[in-house]
Amino acid sequence: MLKATILVVEDEGDILELVKYNLEQAGFRVIVARDGLQALDLLREQTPDLVVLDLLLPNLDGREVCRRIRRSPQTNNIPVLILSALGEETDRVVGFEIGADDYLTKPFSPRELVLRVKAIMRRGRRDSQQQEVLRVGDLAIDPGRHLVEAQGQGIELTATEFRLLHHLAANAGRVQTRQMLLERVWGYTFDGYARTVDTHIRRLRKKLGPYGPLIQTVRGVGYRFSDQP
Ligand code: CA
Repeated sequence: MLKATILVVEDEGDILELVKYNLEQAGFRVIVARDGLQALDLLREQTPDLVVLDLLLPNLDGREVCRRIRRSPQTNNIPVLILSALGEETDRVVGFEIGADDYLTKPFSPRELVLRVKAIMRRGRRDSQQQEVLRVGDLAIDPGRHLVEAQGQGIELTATEFRLLHHLAANAGRVQTRQMLLERVWGYTFDGYARTVDTHIRRLRKKLGPYGPLIQTVRGVGYRFSDQP
């Protein structure tokens, strides 16, 4: 079986070596970039299965790299795990706002990093197993092609937003708590991260435009996808 490839973008040599070593030990193929521009150059030639991205980088910072990964149709679906020394809640939220799939704060344990990477990979595989196109009113959600269309118009979503929408729509009419969404969409739960769900829902609604209100807030409980479009 072909090894999954991970691009690690990190300017600090020690951390780069630590991350590379642990990911290789876990069976991944690792390619590296030392700054933001080098990362984007690499992404023009290769399509890794995941990007581990430091935020504070020379030349082009991690936030901008992440935004550009999300903007390009060639890289939009590649999951991004942010690494950063910035540990405040606001920075985590920024990480998710720019389209990251997960976030680890330095110092982190290499074991935790490998677990997170594997969780993201598992989610990817799960998505590709569910190939059936889901239709809700004017929306068509196609997990095989990773595509959402509203009346024939494509809507660009990140990998996590897509999973979130797919999960909500597949359970239309049923309330999903934040805890359930974290477990089923992110693949694990983490304390104090309920706001992660809210942040993603907010972005998803915005991208869905007139279809955004299909995702209803159930006060004090969670969210529900309307089964009456
Ligand atoms: Ca750095």
